[in-house]
Amino acid sequence: MKNNNIDRRVRVRFAPSPTGPLHIGGARTALYNYLFARQNGGDMIIRIEDTDSHRFVPGAEDYIIEALHWLGIEIDEGIGTTPEGPHAPYRQSERRDIYRNYVGQLLSEGKAYYAFDTPEELEKYRAEIPNFQYDAQNRLSLRNSLSLTEEEVKKLIADGTQYVVRLKIEPDVDITVNDIIRGEVVINSSVLDDKVLYKSADDLPTYHLANVVDDHLMEISHVIRGEEWLPSSPLHVLLYRAFGWEDTMPQFAHLPLLLKPEGNGKLSKRDGDRLGFPVFPLLWTDPVTQAISSGYRESGYLPNAVVNFLALLGWNSGTDQEIFSMKELIDSFDLKKCSKSGAKFDYEKGKWFNHKYIQELSGRDIVLLAKAHIERANLPYDEDRLAAATEIIKDRITLLSDLPALISFFFVAPTSYDESAIKKRWKEDTLAQLQEVYSCLTSITDWKSAHLEDTLKSFITEKGFNLGGIMNPLRLSLVGALQGPHLFDILEFIGKDETLARIEKAIDTIGSLKQ
Ligand code: GLU
Repeated sequence: MKNNNIDRRVRVRFAPSPTGPLHIGGARTALYNYLFARQNGGDMIIRIEDTDSHRFVPGAEDYIIEALHWLGIEIDEGIGTTPEGPHAPYRQSERRDIYRNYVGQLLSEGKAYYAFDTPEELEKYRAEIPNFQYDAQNRLSLRNSLSLTEEEVKKLIADGTQYVVRLKIEPDVDITVNDIIRGEVVINSSVLDDKVLYKSADDLPTYHLANVVDDHLMEISHVIRGEEWLPSSPLHVLLYRAFGWEDTMPQFAHLPLLLKPEGNGKLSKRDGDRLGFPVFPLLWTDPVTQAISSGYRESGYLPNAVVNFLALLGWNSGTDQEIFSMKELIDSFDLKKCSKSGAKFDYEKGKWFNHKYIQELSGRDIVLLAKAHIERANLPYDEDRLAAATEIIKDRITLLSDLPALISFFFVAPTSYDESAIKKRWKEDTLAQLQEVYSCLTSITDWKSAHLEDTLKSFITEKGFNLGGIMNPLRLSLVGALQGPHLFDILEFIGKDETLARIEKAIDTIGSLKQ
């Protein structure tokens, strides 16, 4: 096949159907399109494929655009930009006239035909004839403009009979799809049925016709899409030929499927629910059932971590590098290095990326990004104090949503104490020893972590106490559990008065529990 793409401007499109929230696999498709466009100085176009009116879901289009925006995928042309661009409108439901014309062209050239078989009739054939398909073998025995006279056809149309337009596929022709990832995929036209291109019932084209016409008109150079569309591509090649557009046919690249974490079968929303990870970029509320599906954004992921994670699901650079900024991805991405086989959705790896990206941020940046989580947890919003506390525990954060639980004890005294820790760590002599530590602390004026540590440790040695025997009850008194960062950092952070007050309260509460 001729390669027409050498000097062609790179123009790619992400063409979602607004049938629900953008699945994480769709987000990866958008990302790969974007990386490829940017790498080649080309254009990233968004087209909305909403010709299936039955599956239209309100809010889905806005969701998709917002998700792309959150991920940092910039749109050059189409839905999501103003003005939309030279090929407006970019929403297929607004392009009916265009499709009608092209359907007309195929009809007048004898490359397509009207078919009047009712859905019930077709249903009957399917039930009666194994592997029934509408094709060269049987089209003359069915009800269409090839089997009926011109008068009959005219009359049916004049009477308002519903019809579809089907592509007249010549049998036994080898169709080659040149796929950048998969190489040459050859299929024989006899296995294809005469696909429906247009339905009079809603005056709308089907996906196949609208997709090909728009890719042509919008001068798309590369069609990068999910593997699930691979079976459509021979038909698309035939359509390019039928229109005489072979010279500008885009190059295809069908991306590998995203598989369940266990590797068997396609990743679904149910896997996310089952294993506790989102499969959508943003939270989604179903407009009908009001059911909520979690999103990466609301669950506390950083967009650049999600991008990095997605980029490596189906592509690898061939080096050991794992952390890639968007710019580095643009530079190193290579469609030819995408894998043919499905990519396991390793969500633990996704968390690992997020942890890594969080470590690169300052405490203050983390606080700003986690603002909604902090507010939801009712922590006092003092940016300086929150930033300082975050700095201390930063290496423990995986998701932004982890933050409140990790820092709350810096701001709020414990209201209860971990019972198993009390059982294990609060011994008979704890109360008396803690009282002595309390007095030692009252005398310290230089309230700094290192100084506190030196003073208290020498005091403990001097007294002949066991270090762990003091440190654990002290931590329990300040935090409520045996968790948290370096103990003396906590003392310094909460200050002398608060430290003493928390010890007093623990002595009162746990002390009396243990009597
Ligand atoms: N509308 C199709 C989808 O929802 C687009 C497939 C393609 O990119 O050709 O994914």
